[in-house]
Amino acid sequence: MSTEPTSGYAPPPEPSGFAPASRSGPRHRAAGDDPASESALRIVWLCPDLLSTYGDRGNMLILARRAYVRGIPVETIEVRSDEPVPQEGDIYLLGGGEDGPQALAAQRLNANQGLHRAVARGATALVVCAGYQLIGTSFFAKGAKCAGLGILDITSDRGATRAVGELASEADPALNLPTLTGFENHGGRTHLGPGLTPLARVTTGVGNDGATEGVWHGKIIGTYMHGPVLARNPALADLLISWAIGSPVAPIDDTWPNRLRAERLAAIRG
Ligand code: GLN
Repeated sequence: MSTEPTSGYAPPPEPSGFAPASRSGPRHRAAGDDPASESALRIVWLCPDLLSTYGDRGNMLILARRAYVRGIPVETIEVRSDEPVPQEGDIYLLGGGEDGPQALAAQRLNANQGLHRAVARGATALVVCAGYQLIGTSFFAKGAKCAGLGILDITSDRGATRAVGELASEADPALNLPTLTGFENHGGRTHLGPGLTPLARVTTGVGNDGATEGVWHGKIIGTYMHGPVLARNPALADLLISWAIGSPVAPIDDTWPNRLRAERLAAIRG
């Protein structure tokens, strides 16, 4: 049988050279289950009931998988918007969403303040599209200006048209990442305060404003890239894991992610 990829999904082969942490794979639990083990890398996906467009669950799964194949014990926790934000997380994730759910997520996260506390103590965070907009001070949803979480000095207003399509960019050189690739679909335009650094410079698409894309501040990455973003950009996933564990991670076999990347970057060129 051919080993070449086809248009259907085939699971990637097991990477060689890294012993899985256990046979059972990453541990998944709900917010109310037993507390996470102290030694595990704890990945917390917030508001999956409100913010989960374009396969945002994939970001959690990819982080878990990439930690697991390196022998890092890992636990994923999904926390609905009406549940308290756990404080023991190492990496927090927020996904994209439509305006209404986005506004509700901001209200609930503001009422809870748990994400604020987590990032203030140095937790790693990846926030995507609606999640990215709502960590700023304000954003627009259904024509109304909404209070964001105020975690970063970012505001979002609305563009004349929706930004829809492929988004490619070159990351800040200090991050040492290859070309970033994703899919964007948003009405908002985002403006960074003076103390903030964009994640990347846009080469195709719109991102924040047609020139810059996302934000990078400490261990927080905000982006307009869907895809899910970590499926298309495994080096970004590894960067988040390395921030969370406090040390670099060894390379793994990225044959399949690299095929996806090559396909999407060729689609832009073609
Ligand atoms: N509702 C926001 C906007 O349209 C975010 C959209 C999204 O997350 N895809 O700008």
